[in-house]
Parts: sequence; structure tokens; C-alpha cells
Amino acid sequence: MAAVFPTLCPTATPDARLTDSHGRVIHDLRVSITDRCNYKCVYCRTGEGGALYPELSIEEYLRLIGLFVGLGITKVRLTGGEPLLRRGLVELVEELARLHTLSGEPLDLALTTNGHLLGSLAAPLKAAGLNRVTVSMDAVDAPTFERITRVPGSFQNVLGGIRAARAAGLTPLKINCVLLRGFNDGQIESFALFARQEDVVVRFIEFMPLEEGRLWSPQIVVPLTEIVERIGRVLPLVELPPREPSETARRYTFADGAGEIGIIAPVSQAFCGACSRVRLTSDGKIRTCLFSQVEHDLYGRLRTGVDDAELRAYILRTVQGKEARHHIGEPGFLKPSRSMVHIGG
Ligand code: SAM
Repeated sequence: MAAVFPTLCPTATPDARLTDSHGRVIHDLRVSITDRCNYKCVYCRTGEGGALYPELSIEEYLRLIGLFVGLGITKVRLTGGEPLLRRGLVELVEELARLHTLSGEPLDLALTTNGHLLGSLAAPLKAAGLNRVTVSMDAVDAPTFERITRVPGSFQNVLGGIRAARAAGLTPLKINCVLLRGFNDGQIESFALFARQEDVVVRFIEFMPLEEGRLWSPQIVVPLTEIVERIGRVLPLVELPPREPSETARRYTFADGAGEIGIIAPVSQAFCGACSRVRLTSDGKIRTCLFSQVEHDLYGRLRTGVDDAELRAYILRTVQGKEARHHIGEPGFLKPSRSMVHIGG
């Protein structure tokens, strides 16, 4: 199909690549394309429908993402809010799939979703050029799942979505589960079995202080060591070596070699030193860390009519100032002004 949008042409000189003042190379961009969500997960949202931020047009996301790719981004992950709610998503993916990295490879294109609408969208997204999806799923039994999402019937939809994604070839399929003590930590062992039954990689994520309300405490976090120990009692685990230094998940296979689980432990075993990531919010602000106290208004600059060279210079300067690390659990820690659903998880 012919290109519909006009502005997709990353150009950059090799010396203009995204790095920060701590020596990290940034090659991973997460883009929120809406902060609306059709779930009200109890650990994420208050259920009162917090502030929504504006969304850019599909053409504007394309222009901004194209600039980042021209500065060395090799992987783009679309997220939200719930990205499958965004009108124009398939066309956006189709256009992004035309982009190439600075070394001439196709862009690595992934998406994070709650999976509710994936049953009908998995095949069109794959056909448009999406490589992989990660589906968020916090329980493997319907009553627990629906107590968390607060949407009746959501469990069957998500299970159907996962199977549709696998059938469409959006693999390897990852399932992300945020564990909270007292909510869903009873699911750990069942998830390990689910990973093998459904041929998916289940990744447990430690809960971070990014919720709309006030739920987080160190006690509610289920740490990596506990997860490994509990699964190991049921199915012995063998740790796998990291595939790249910036890999966020500690990976394990089962002793018989069938299946994989991962654990992402930003709280108990922070990996900021190897972070290769920046974020663009749905309203076009750059966030150089999930826990940034400042946002950088890239879209505001675009609106003033400046040219691409100036926007690129702004992105390079901004990323240089990326924070060294987050300060979760330290005295004086401040939650960011936006919660996870409004930043883009
Ligand atoms: N709606 C999409 C989804 O469900 O994947 C994308 C947005 S959602 C905010 C992205 C991920 O962030 C989900 O896996 C969710 O469970 C996770 N998440 C939300 N709040 C979190 C928190 N406070 N700590 C860790 N992960 C969180």
C-alpha cells in the first residue's frame, strides 16, 4: 500500500545519537498514544476517572517518532492508557513499519495492551507490521482477574486476545503480571503453570509507586527472591543469561527446559544503570525516566513551527539530562506528577 503520511524520513548524522550524561546509549522509545483505558485496575486507578491529557494526531506522533528514530532509536513500543482504544492505531503501525533504523534494519515495533480488544485487532496489527505484543494480565482465574480490572467478562476477552495474538504470529508472546501482596500473590505458582500451558513468557513485575491513589508501600511489593523461591518449590528454575545489557527482566527456564518466566524487579534490584529508555506521553512530552519530576514539552515546540533540525537538537539536549536513577524507597522520594496510566507503562 502507498504511504499515506508524508513526514517519515529519519535523517541524522552518525554523531547525533541519543546518549545521556551518564554514558548510556538510548535506543528504546515508549510512546503513549492515549491515556484513556477501558480497565480500572485497582492498583493503578482510583476508579474515579482521573485527569485525561490531550492526544496528538496520528501524523504528529509519526513526525515525532520519526525524529527519534533518526537519532538512533531502534525499538518503539506503543502503549497507553490502552493503545487498542486509539483510532488510527493500525494505520500508525503500518507507517511505523516503513521506518528503518540508522543501521538500515527495520524498526523493532512492539505494543503493550490489556488484551481486551486483541481478539479482533491481533491479525490486522500483525498484517500492518507489528512484531510483538505484551499483554498485561494480573491473575489466571476469572474472579480474581475481574476483581482487579473491575470489568465483568474481562478474563475471557483477554484469554481470547492472547490466543488470537499467538495465532496471528505476534510472538514471542509476553504476559506481564504486576504482583501485590494480599491482592494476587496467591497466583504466582498458577502463572508458572499457565506459562507452560499457553506457551507464553510470563513476567512478574514488582509494583512501583505510580498509582493514582496511595496504595504503595515496601510491604506490598513481592520481591524477586520470593517469587523465584516460591516457583522453585513447585517447578525447579534455572536462570538464563541476559541477551543484552539493558534487558530489564531476569529470565528463568524450568529445569526441564520447557517454558520461560521473567522477573522485572525495579524496586528490589533496580536496573537504572543499564537503562536505554525514554518516553513520549500522549500529549507529546518527553519523560526521561518513569520517575522524572520534570517533563519536556516536545509537542509545544513542534506547535511553534520550528523545523526538524531544531526539534532534533531539543531531543538530544533533553535526553542528555536523563536522571541517573530512580529513588524509590529512599527518604524524600517524590511520586511523579502523573500516574502510570497517564505516563504510558
Ligand atoms: N493498558 C495497557 C496494559 O494494560 O498493558 C498499557 C498501559 S498499562 C499502564 C502498562 C503496564 O503497567 C501494565 O502491565 C500494568 O499492569 C503496569 N502497571 C500499572 N501500574 C503499575 C505500577 N504502579 N507498578 C508496576 N506496573 C504497573
